[in-house]
Amino acid sequence: MDVSHLLDGLNDHQRQVVSAAPCSQLVLAGAGSGKTRVLVHRIAWLMQVEQISSHAILAVTFTNKAATEMRGRIEKLLGSNIRTMWIGTFHGLAHRLLRAHYLDAKLPEGFQILDAEDQLRMVKRVIRAMNLDEKQWPARQACWYINGKKDEGLRPQHIDHFNDPQAKVQLDIYRNYQQACDLAGLVDFAELLLRAHELLRDNEHLLRHYQNRFGNILVDEFQDTNGIQYAWLRLLAGAHGNLMIVGDDDQSIYGWRGARVENIQQFLQDFPSAETVRLEQNYRSTGTILNAANALIANNSGRLGKDLWTDGKEGEPISVYAAFNELDEARFVAGVLKQWLNDGNALSDAAILYRSNAQSRVLEEAMLQAQLPYRIYGGQRFFERQEIKDALAYLRLISNRDDDAAFERVVNTPARGIGDRTVGLIRSHARDEGCTLWQACRHLLSLNGLAGRAAKAVEGFLLLIQELDDTVDDLQLHAQTERVIHGSGLMAMYQAEKGEKAETRVENLKELVSATRTFVAPEDAESMLPLDAFLSHAALEAGESQADEFDDAVQMMTLHSAKGLEFPLVFMVGVEEGMFPSQMSSEEPGRLEEERRLCYVGMTRAMQQLYICHAESRRIYGRENFQRPSRFLREVPDQYQREIRMKAQVSRAPTHQPSRFSQEPQRFAETGLKLGQRVLHKKFGEGTVLNYEGSGEQSRVQVNFDMVGTKWLVAAYANLQGL
Ligand code: ATP
Ligand code: MG
Repeated sequence: MDVSHLLDGLNDHQRQVVSAAPCSQLVLAGAGSGKTRVLVHRIAWLMQVEQISSHAILAVTFTNKAATEMRGRIEKLLGSNIRTMWIGTFHGLAHRLLRAHYLDAKLPEGFQILDAEDQLRMVKRVIRAMNLDEKQWPARQACWYINGKKDEGLRPQHIDHFNDPQAKVQLDIYRNYQQACDLAGLVDFAELLLRAHELLRDNEHLLRHYQNRFGNILVDEFQDTNGIQYAWLRLLAGAHGNLMIVGDDDQSIYGWRGARVENIQQFLQDFPSAETVRLEQNYRSTGTILNAANALIANNSGRLGKDLWTDGKEGEPISVYAAFNELDEARFVAGVLKQWLNDGNALSDAAILYRSNAQSRVLEEAMLQAQLPYRIYGGQRFFERQEIKDALAYLRLISNRDDDAAFERVVNTPARGIGDRTVGLIRSHARDEGCTLWQACRHLLSLNGLAGRAAKAVEGFLLLIQELDDTVDDLQLHAQTERVIHGSGLMAMYQAEKGEKAETRVENLKELVSATRTFVAPEDAESMLPLDAFLSHAALEAGESQADEFDDAVQMMTLHSAKGLEFPLVFMVGVEEGMFPSQMSSEEPGRLEEERRLCYVGMTRAMQQLYICHAESRRIYGRENFQRPSRFLREVPDQYQREIRMKAQVSRAPTHQPSRFSQEPQRFAETGLKLGQRVLHKKFGEGTVLNYEGSGEQSRVQVNFDMVGTKWLVAAYANLQGL
């Protein structure tokens, strides 16, 4: 058999890794050295040369997008289909295991996944039920605590509060939250990992089965695995499995979320026979970009040590632009992009990278003004949109009545006369009885515990869900979805709303029906009801996919989400002290080094041209700040930089800035606000009005706040001040 195509286009070190006899190995190598490529070729080699079945291979990637890409590349190399292979993210794979063995995992068959927003709501509810002061115990912090503990593999009973009153309350919140989730059959993201680990740890027969099955496990971006993920891998590999990990300690950027770069050293201890291979040739970037990135990262201590070189072109110096302010910065970027496009290049070959999502607004407006299509990774994605989450919540309730998060979301959407007071009664009954909200409704109704009108409304809601369930029972998934969208009244509700946004919502609901029509359940989901398979898919994909994936558009994303990707043209913006490195991290050496690694990740995304921009003045929290260039710029030797001078003085527009709405400012009757107008909110600071809906007391306004992102506010209470 000719297998030369599996080694073509690889250098000697890469070939060594790809063609080794089955074994454990570590590929420790810098950015752009072909780690991901090697992983793909290795899998193809194992199958074609070692005759290992695709069934016996497990591959872990960092995002679903990377998993899809990897599958495609392997299939291309093999010339055949590998649908049965387990390739996915840690979360996706853990979910697959839990579905297959829900009984052993002590989960109900129709368990649902809680996304971050749902989790926050649940935690809020728990904090309220405990009669705690929500200001003193912010739900966000509690989520952080709970997820952190789960990432370390800790259940409440493993945690000692040492009689510290603060710690005790935190622990109680964790315990009560977990109880509520278990009762409702809900699993948050961190729980997926923890439970999948416990499932294997506590079920000898399952562990043995999977250890025998997955003789070869391969992991990309290993430097960003957390404690529980590594524990799971180690368990699964067992004493005889082959574990191949590829990673780069210089690109470890999720320490703040529990990732442990020490897992690399731990791996070498746990798998003493593993060979370490270093790849040192970079195939991605020009010599200049590479040297500059190398010089920057050399400022970090405690590195595992790697040299990267390239025999590619030296390329042009890095262009550094000192903007007058953030508007000037954004217009500069748009100007370069226009030129790029005029020169016959594709916009999708260019990326704008920023430190925090809040920076995107000004850039978006500049793109709109310059009529450059753009696409935001990590923005509001399809499955996270309000109307889609509403529809999914109905579907979830049909699948599992005990899903409290879904219940809360739609019990009064569309409005059916179940007010806050009634929901409050239901909640407190559920709390007293230790049951779910659905069960609480049934108790209360049978005890006549609700006043006449409320009782009727609640009864109507229960009946509606029951009826929907009955009528969709033997329909196909897309027909089910369509029936539910209409039968629930959601479609009519959004159709009755006015404005462009409402139209988009109706379009999105229709799009959801199409999505269910084209949905193909993964192989592992065969035993699942199509509805459950789709709901899980929606929860796991929410973080990534976007509707307009195929347009030629500039890619905009945070530095964190740029990991693993590459683009011919890259802009890094806001490279200023206090922004990047961020204020908090510049005071702590460990965190400063993580920021520097993030800068290294950003620079090494660029293949041909890199622009670094900083502004001399920037509005932060509505206040004008004088900014200094980031220390990271000083750490890049001058010889690799070229300063761009074409500074046009751009002053701030006095009342409202040019925006996507500036041609036709619509006035929002009740409040006198205009779309596109800048406003000030007491708590959230400055923002831009994006949209509004409803009228009278119900009317809500959507504002994109500079610091906290997009929010919907009740206009009557928001107290927005026009600027
Ligand atoms: P990162 O650390 O950013 O994830 P990586 O080490 O995974 O990077 P790849 O993305 O696999 O690197 O490879 C970087 C680029 O170099 C890709 O475009 C890849 O196709 C190319 N490449 C890798 N190895 C070779 C080679 N031997 N010859 C030519 N091109 C190569
Ligand atoms: Mg890679």
